[in-house]
Amino acid sequence: MTPEGQALLRQGATELGLDVEGQLPRFEQLLDLLVEANSRMNLTALKTESDIVLKHFVDSLSCLRGGHLDGAGLRVLDIGTGAGFPTLPVAIMRPDAAFTPLDSIRKKIDFVRAAAEALNLTGVTPLVGRAETLGRDPEHRERYDRVVCRAVAALPILAELGLPLLKPGGLLVAQKGPISEEELHAGRRAAGEVGGRVTEVDAFTLPVLGDARTLVVIEKVGPTPKKYPRREGVPNQQPLF
Ligand code: SAM
Repeated sequence: MTPEGQALLRQGATELGLDVEGQLPRFEQLLDLLVEANSRMNLTALKTESDIVLKHFVDSLSCLRGGHLDGAGLRVLDIGTGAGFPTLPVAIMRPDAAFTPLDSIRKKIDFVRAAAEALNLTGVTPLVGRAETLGRDPEHRERYDRVVCRAVAALPILAELGLPLLKPGGLLVAQKGPISEEELHAGRRAAGEVGGRVTEVDAFTLPVLGDARTLVVIEKVGPTPKKYPRREGVPNQQPLF
């Protein structure tokens, strides 16, 4: 990573209240791994150092706003992790949590596994699969303290995919761009349908770049009816609201 890239990462993290100094070598290694893998396959659309540092690393770390991932030993599922976001940057900063980054695309999870091993992130256990399938699997249903997801789907879909996987009292932390009143309204209704309640809508701007972002937090306040999640693809094709 160039000195400019390091400065952007430091500045972005500092604005989020995080000190990345001791973990800089790991972020540098992750950048190298991403750039190398991107030269072989189409892993992520972002290619430049500053884009990767700000729009992948710092943006991923912004899910730590509000302290929703603080606390020792949390089990965290990342739905639709892609090339490992937010899991990999967050796992670097939260080594005591157990992360399960999930994606339906094997080549992406192969990268996440290789990166987690190279960075010695022992709490990261990547998984190939769909959230709809996991949500009906007793080994995963109601087993997670937190579900995170970045840039995956509209809020009603995320509610249906995420809530079944949470333990009672668990939190879904959705990282989104600007969110419309319509999506938020539909998300609140969908959350109610699957045993959740929207407890926080945190609008902020991405450090350095100033792009609009929203963290939406849904708490699991009651049981999720057995019929959810519906079968693969249905939550996307026919959102609850
Ligand atoms: N979260 C990553 C990020 O922020 O860079 C990737 C975002 S990408 C736009 C969405 C990812 O979600 C894709 O890799 C896709 O395969 C995955 N995905 C979408 N729906 C899914 C589902 N139901 N189960 C598992 N993965 C899913």
